[in-house]
Amino acid sequence: MNLKTYLPGGTSPTGQPITLGVMGGGQLGRMFVHAAQAMGYTTAVLDPDPASPAGLVSHHHIKTPYTDEAGLAQLAQRCEAITTEFENVPAPALQALAAQRTVAPSAACVAVAQDRVKEKAHFVDCAAISGVSPAPHAVITTDASLAAVSADLLPGILKTARMGYDGKGQARVHTREELAAAWDAMDKVPCVLEKMLKLRAECSVIVARGADGATVSFPVQKNAHRDGILALTEVFEGALDAALAQRAQASTVAIANHLHYVGVLCVEYFVVENAQGALDLVVNEMAPRPHNSGHYTQNACDISQFEAQVRTLAGLPLPTPRQHSPAIMVNLLGDLWFEPNAVRPQRSERPTSPPWAQVLALPGTHLHLYGKLSARPGRKMGHLNITAPSVAQVRATTAQVLELLGLPKLGA
Ligand code: ADP
Ligand code: MG
Repeated sequence: MNLKTYLPGGTSPTGQPITLGVMGGGQLGRMFVHAAQAMGYTTAVLDPDPASPAGLVSHHHIKTPYTDEAGLAQLAQRCEAITTEFENVPAPALQALAAQRTVAPSAACVAVAQDRVKEKAHFVDCAAISGVSPAPHAVITTDASLAAVSADLLPGILKTARMGYDGKGQARVHTREELAAAWDAMDKVPCVLEKMLKLRAECSVIVARGADGATVSFPVQKNAHRDGILALTEVFEGALDAALAQRAQASTVAIANHLHYVGVLCVEYFVVENAQGALDLVVNEMAPRPHNSGHYTQNACDISQFEAQVRTLAGLPLPTPRQHSPAIMVNLLGDLWFEPNAVRPQRSERPTSPPWAQVLALPGTHLHLYGKLSARPGRKMGHLNITAPSVAQVRATTAQVLELLGLPKLGA
């Protein structure tokens, strides 16, 4: 990994403005672009969708498939350094870019994160250092490996090795028959069967690691999911057991170091009860990029996860981020455009904007919408970060927001 620095606002040897690129034009790419532009960088996005959230706000938008040679060549020609905003970016595309430009995280790191089999193996390797193991699991690739699954893993969750997200590509199975049927329904693609654990809570940690190996960790966030999709993130003192949170941070740093990772990495954990009845951690999965659960950093920390992504990519200094306000992040799914809320007590047939004026009248509410042209149920349209001077206040404001939007109460 090279240790080059690309200072904001500068020009390249060919006289172009220093440009940072991102593979993928979703909301994470859009927030990377915003952070890079705020610091004075020119940006380029590669995404085939002409209306992609990041493409719409970037200086340059290359609208080709991710594997298109001419598109990749154009991105490399424009940019000093390139990152990714989704883990399913084809590894050969990153390799092609890395032959010419700084690419972070590396294709090898992304390859681990995009395959649950490799990811689990990496976690097992790290457990000796980090002390945090993944859930008991088995890899299923053949009929023989299916037959060899230990009864101990049932009931379990069958997850496709690749391409799963927001609970997609998963099936909950209770018996061997259900397991076999579920694997069949997944066309017998490589899978991981995980023992179903009784979760006391879920949390995640964002770390940023520079090319020099220096790593900083953000505060640990506590996550609540609904229907397999992140619904709410809480980050303040007392949200999680402090010792557990510290272990989660140390484990995440170990995972990043072991991969020689460069960039922003998010690792998800389950909080479970161990055999002795004490709280314990299980490592679940990782994302080689900023993460939905880290969005609170935009308004509650002095460096956001996206600014950290820019800094690691550009080789800028990376002081430890400081959280200055207790925070709660509420995900805004497309359902909100249809469902009843405080100003619209009837469910609407056509999308109608949620009551933003009332929400934004509450102090400490920060609205982030991704510029998606149409709302659909389950689609991530934006998020709200709520900050306040105290934990009691952030909870009180959030309760008001949830009521206005017609969302379930905190802790429900
Ligand atoms: P993805 O986020 O890629 O859809 P995850 O592996 O994070 O996939 O699973 C989604 C959610 O399903 C988790 O956040 C958790 O709530 C639940 N889940 C996943 N694995 C287990 C497990 N082994 N035991 C209990 N719950 C699980
Ligand atoms: Mg997950």
